[in-house]
Amino acid sequence: MTASGLPVLREGLRRLASSAISLIYPPTCVACGAATGQPHALCAACWSGLRLIERPYCERLGTPFALDLGIGSLISPGAISEPPVFGRARAVAIYDGTARDLVHRLKYGDRLDLARAMARMMAAAGSELLEEADLIVPVPLHGLRLWRRRFNQSALLAREIGRRSGKRCDLRALARVKATRPQVGLTRHQRADNLQGAFRVTDTGRIRVAGRRLLLIDDVTTTGATGNAAARVLLRAGAASVDLLTFATVTRDGL
Ligand SMILES: [Zn+2]
Repeated sequence: MTASGLPVLREGLRRLASSAISLIYPPTCVACGAATGQPHALCAACWSGLRLIERPYCERLGTPFALDLGIGSLISPGAISEPPVFGRARAVAIYDGTARDLVHRLKYGDRLDLARAMARMMAAAGSELLEEADLIVPVPLHGLRLWRRRFNQSALLAREIGRRSGKRCDLRALARVKATRPQVGLTRHQRADNLQGAFRVTDTGRIRVAGRRLLLIDDVTTTGATGNAAARVLLRAGAASVDLLTFATVTRDGL
């Protein structure tokens, strides 16, 4: 064989190896496990089950408007009557169908490939917030729950978003100091009460968040009570601003 034939052979071997890998491990949908064309992606059926949030949406809460209220209506009635503590919230999708499946799979499945796919979508949906942020902070779990579940899904997402964007991510700035009962089934006001005193900014966190624009990361937001409680302590600790980026949101406005 001539020397010029070597690169061709090498390329041929590389292709053979990569097709052998995809024969053994064909790329599958991160939500349902069906075969897909691309790794770390969703199949067509799961894509169609995802209700992506696109403008026009409330510029504060990031929730879509049921009706087009016309130019100038950029803030939803809910954000005006009860302004959130955080600055702006954004989410990839409405919390139902595929989005709910993905959130559940991540929470109970410890799946890094899933965190990557979800973080990629979150970085796109929250690109404006991400660009302006100095520091990414995940919503923490209480120690007991973390110990039971072994990992914090919000920290997984935050770390992946940090890796993709090159922004710093601080997993220890914020601590959950109260084991709150599950928020499911609680009213809006009960949720806020339940979270009283739930978060604390750590001593090292105080130094890191002071004067910084923060981007809080969580998997799903329901009433915004968790985001508000976390934002309140971060702002009290001197953060310049706090925005919230989640994978999914349970909409209130306009439904
Ligand atoms: Zn699928």
